[in-house]
Amino acid sequence: MTISLKDLDPHEMNDWCPGCGDNGILAGVKNTIVNLGIDPHKMVVVSGIGCSSKLPNFINTNGVHTLHGRAIPFAEGIKLANPELTVIIDSGDGDTYGIGAGHFISAGRRNLDIKLFVHDNGVYSLTKGQASPTLPENRKVKGIPAPNINGAINPLELALFSGYTFIARTTSYNIKEMVDLMSKAIRHKGLALVDILQGCPTYNPEFTSSQWFMQHTKPLPETYDPVVKNPSDISEANQKKRDALSMMMGDDDMNIHTGLFFQWENPDTFESRLEARHIPAAISEQIADKDNKSTIDLEKTLSSLIV
Ligand code: SF4
Ligand code: MG
Repeated sequence: MTISLKDLDPHEMNDWCPGCGDNGILAGVKNTIVNLGIDPHKMVVVSGIGCSSKLPNFINTNGVHTLHGRAIPFAEGIKLANPELTVIIDSGDGDTYGIGAGHFISAGRRNLDIKLFVHDNGVYSLTKGQASPTLPENRKVKGIPAPNINGAINPLELALFSGYTFIARTTSYNIKEMVDLMSKAIRHKGLALVDILQGCPTYNPEFTSSQWFMQHTKPLPETYDPVVKNPSDISEANQKKRDALSMMMGDDDMNIHTGLFFQWENPDTFESRLEARHIPAAISEQIADKDNKSTIDLEKTLSSLIV
């Protein structure tokens, strides 16, 4: 299908601050849809709560702006109901790695075919810039009175240990790399994370400027090979996991690699487990006859609720 950026014009103009990296990520998502020729009617963008979570309102696809930390289970439900849909999540670091951390980990146990694009700016920006779970220890940002007393989590390592089968990082200023990684994530069969280091000029201007990222990020070495060649070979997959972990642990707060760290098209997806148990997707259930009359017997359901 041929679609253009114009087809994805928003329902409403966005209200992000001037220079906000969410604009770059929105451009990345739109270009990815155009790049892959995805029918906007077959795409769902799901978000939680935060500045970044407004994104579904600013793109002309299906979208759900859900509850704080709850984007993942919503997205999983949508994908399970209709596996033909492309389901992506655009949410923030606070939403995904803070209150949503349990869902983030549990998603790895399932390896369902959904894609997480996490807007990672190190702060809870919608609520005036408190430290998020990815803000490094001792880093001072505008919204906190003293340097951060908490340590940071590494979302890529957490994803690797949780069972994600596609793990990547980019920045909101590098649209070319972002579109490449988002496109690969969508083509990947399984659970994918693209952590996007995002500019927040309002609450974290010093450590998320384009200049700071230019100085402190660099692409993974060309010799680094993240892809498991034989998806059925567990020992190859484990070796690639060790390589990825080593690369992730070699980074620090001031030296950060971007690119694809790990990809394994593990045939053990949640969809394959449902198929093995002969559990069909809800979309395949017949709910009306040829005259559009409901074929669902609500009486049975309602009577089961009588106490
Ligand atoms: Fe963007 Fe930060 Fe403004 Fe939120 S507060 S819209 S993340 S620049
Ligand atoms: Mg944030």
